[in-house]
Amino acid sequence: MGIFGIYGEEQGDVASVTYYGLYALQHRGQESAGIAVNDDGVFSIHKGAGLVGDVFCHETLASLGRGSMAIGHTRYGTLGTRGTINAEPLAVNHIKGRLALATDGCLVNSGPLRRELELGGMIFHTSSDAEIISGAIIKERLDAPSIEEALKRAMRRFEGGYAIVLMSPSKIVAARDMNGIHTLVYGRRQDGRFVVASETSALDAVGAEPIRELMPGEIIVFTDGEARSITDNCATAPERLCIFEYIYTARPDSAIAGVSVQEARRRAGELLAKAHPVEADVVVGVPDSGLDAALGYSEASGIPYKIGLIKNKYIGRTFIAPGQDNREDKVRIKLNPIAAAVKGKRVVLVDDSIVRGTTSARIVKLLRAAGATEVHLRSSAPKFLNPCYYGTDIDSREMLIACNYTTDEIAKIVGADTLGFLELSDVEKIAEGTSAGGFCKACFDGNYPTPPMQKYVSKYDTKKTESEA
Ligand code: AMP
Repeated sequence: MGIFGIYGEEQGDVASVTYYGLYALQHRGQESAGIAVNDDGVFSIHKGAGLVGDVFCHETLASLGRGSMAIGHTRYGTLGTRGTINAEPLAVNHIKGRLALATDGCLVNSGPLRRELELGGMIFHTSSDAEIISGAIIKERLDAPSIEEALKRAMRRFEGGYAIVLMSPSKIVAARDMNGIHTLVYGRRQDGRFVVASETSALDAVGAEPIRELMPGEIIVFTDGEARSITDNCATAPERLCIFEYIYTARPDSAIAGVSVQEARRRAGELLAKAHPVEADVVVGVPDSGLDAALGYSEASGIPYKIGLIKNKYIGRTFIAPGQDNREDKVRIKLNPIAAAVKGKRVVLVDDSIVRGTTSARIVKLLRAAGATEVHLRSSAPKFLNPCYYGTDIDSREMLIACNYTTDEIAKIVGADTLGFLELSDVEKIAEGTSAGGFCKACFDGNYPTPPMQKYVSKYDTKKTESEA
């Protein structure tokens, strides 16, 4: 999910700036989008299902009016949490005022937390963690002197990977989970406004110069014209930045923990070429996140790089569409091979990951139909062997192809001549020179930074979601 916030002292068209910021974060979630604008403590909110460009038009942006600050969100939905009802920002009235928040990630203890809040009388309208997070903050706010103090106390109850941007009548407050699993960076524009976002590319989009990333557990309060850091929750847990941000999630023009995402992907390709060399005529990447890894493979192997697959720019990331059938349909209309680049050639096909194997199987077939004589598949992520509990839609083990088959078997299933994955021992090398203290690679090695998932599951929520679909 993508989160964004802008803070200033003066009134301005913060809705439009947030809209541009969300556009730059569209790749992090395409299920819903929303913006909340704060005009002297009065909040205007618009949100809905779909892409940023579908949810907002001139009229809706204008209807949000001017304000001194705003927050925004793009949602990436996993099954069971679909629908406009879970769209963010989530706005609530509480005894001490108003609060709007946008979140990235997931809590692993949302089940017990929600139950505790419900037993205390709280009523939930959604199945999202955002509502649990806001409920926990509001509860703490009853006797905390400020919203940031309430957030600080609430964070000590949260287990999971999350980043939060919240807006009170007079502040924007941003926070990153204690393990630093999710990314959050802030910067400043020439007009003096502070901007906070999931990725640096969103800062670039709105003309903000990055200042720095939030530290794991850090809270930054934007108020009275300045940014104030609260570090009481820092260094309470080892940093475990999600390595998959480099491999897939983030945009290549973003930098995370001092490392260019594009550079990390190129390095993954180099390492892949060293670990899994093959005799071939051309290297082709799967757009978009496989392209840089393909370039790295080509550079390291000396096999020429060609653009062999064209992606329809007007379709979202296939994986985002929940439900297997839907996903397969989308793959079909998403990619088209360039026959001239692959016909009669032995092709090395580089994708960023193989999760269920659906995409790879389809692309291998496309390349063969376009005349490729051999297809050697390479994944710039190691084998996915474990689900992600922190907000990336990596499925249950039954759905993960690498959990159920050997490498040779997977090659056969997807129709590739050979198959190679980035070695687990190489995965951290892709972020060479990073300032991160460590990485979460749980989807590959099963070493989770938090206790096991205790998700809130309501059969009523599930039924409702299905009928909504
Ligand atoms: P699959 O078809 O299930 O093997 O999925 C692999 C494809 O999905 C790759 O081409 C990736 O680019 C993409 N992908 C991998 N992980 C994710 C994710 N967590 N969310 C969305 N797309 C993903």
